[in-house]
Amino acid sequence: MDIHIEFGPFKTRYHMGLVGARFRASVERFISDVLVAQTDEGCSAAQGKVVAEVNEDRFCGPRSLVRDNFDFDLTLSFASGPATFKSRLRYRDGGLTAVRGFSTYLWTQDRVAERERQTAAIEAICDEVLDGGKPKPCPICQAPLEVVNVPAMFNVQCSKECFVYNFHRDPESGDCLHGHFFMNDP
Ligand SMILES: [Zn+2]
Repeated sequence: MDIHIEFGPFKTRYHMGLVGARFRASVERFISDVLVAQTDEGCSAAQGKVVAEVNEDRFCGPRSLVRDNFDFDLTLSFASGPATFKSRLRYRDGGLTAVRGFSTYLWTQDRVAERERQTAAIEAICDEVLDGGKPKPCPICQAPLEVVNVPAMFNVQCSKECFVYNFHRDPESGDCLHGHFFMNDP
């Protein structure tokens, strides 16, 4: 595998000392053992950037909870097309693990297409509910959906938390004011 990763630039003495050969080796191991291992394919190349979550000495004291956190933005090349990985990992004991709230999910072409199908299915269900229909089960896990449909708000979410689809609207005109769509990595 051809690996071209830009590390930093780092401004702190802590990171300059930490990000050496051992750190780089752990990144390469993470790419093979955690990312490429999620696919059935061989990976021909990896490129991207790794930067520190915090890049100032004052955040890197001995009791810092964030000085070992790094933001990864990688693209891996497969015969089926590029796969992307954007996440925050913690470097500890020579290994890398996802920081709470982040995942190690690799977005391959197949997975992106599957996610687009799921998103389209969710939108279709929400449109049906807005038209007065009954909600179908969650298209991802088949659990029942929870619906709130009141003049000022429309909210549909999976009872097992696969996604939340929500918008607020003007109770008089029904115009959409603002909304959000949130879905966890699988
Ligand atoms: Zn679900």
